Amino acid sequence: MGRVFVAGSINMDVVATADRHPRVGETVAGKQVLYFPGGKGANQAVAASRLGARTTLIGRLGKDSFGGELRTFLGAQGIDLGAIRETAEAHTGTAIITVAEADNTIVVIPGSNALVGVDDVAAVPLAKGDVAVSQFEIPLPTIAAFFRRARDIGATTLLNPAPAQTMSSELLALIDILVLNETELGLLAGVELSDSDEAARILDVARKLQAREDQTICVTLGKRGVLALAGREEISVQGRVVKAVDTTGAGDCFVGALAAQLADGVDLRAALAFANAAASISVQRMGAGPSMPTAAEVAAVLN
Ligand code: ADP
Repeated sequence: MGRVFVAGSINMDVVATADRHPRVGETVAGKQVLYFPGGKGANQAVAASRLGARTTLIGRLGKDSFGGELRTFLGAQGIDLGAIRETAEAHTGTAIITVAEADNTIVVIPGSNALVGVDDVAAVPLAKGDVAVSQFEIPLPTIAAFFRRARDIGATTLLNPAPAQTMSSELLALIDILVLNETELGLLAGVELSDSDEAARILDVARKLQAREDQTICVTLGKRGVLALAGREEISVQGRVVKAVDTTGAGDCFVGALAAQLADGVDLRAALAFANAAASISVQRMGAGPSMPTAAEVAAVLN
């Protein structure tokens, strides 16, 4: 059984709730302050670990209290923390979120995440059959070095290019499996795509983006499920009908679950169905990290 290695961001999400948002220059009294472990890298590692994969997270924390709390939380999820380094040069990545009137504003300060460097990924004990996962919340040259090394060793590379930004054709060619939503696909392919576009059009755009003949592109479509182009093969997995209460982290749950299944040697079609079921459970719960399901919960939904 392979392992999952996630190189990515670790944040503390600080959420303030209030009756209304302050105007510029104004102070309002809030109701609550809540602290949630977040960051796409950490969320995806939590999903993979809760689903039973042996999971290592590669990242950086500041030498501050948020760093200590995040380390404790991630350790409690069963994640191997041996590749998380502490830095005195920046504080721990932090997102300041204000929730009022059913809307939010977010300021993200990357902090220590911006310092995850090529040397952080150079020594991780990747092996053939492992799955190397990353996202766009750490520097792109680090991701490229991580993926180059993974491919040399015979591991599978999986990128979730979120938050959306363009990438070099060199990095694109290092990806075995790209997992993205339709907005991210549109941005990377340079076309307008919306969530009402037909499957045939989405697959056409994915085909246009495909950098290698054997590359897999998985497009998550929210409640519509997922469409994938695996080489020339097209795979469609219907969304599961559930009552969604909070879709934060659905994409991260999907990525972590897919990586866990592929590391376990499950074939792509079954792995996609599993990830779709896992993500459909996560949207029925509040939060990102805490909403990730266990393997038993996913099995119960699939049977
Ligand atoms: P992102 O948050 O990255 O945009 P999506 O919204 O596409 O990602 O969601 C990722 C996956 O989560 C979907 O492919 C699907 O499996 C699941 N999902 C998301 N929203 C729902 C929903 N309302 N009902 C059922 N499954 C959902």
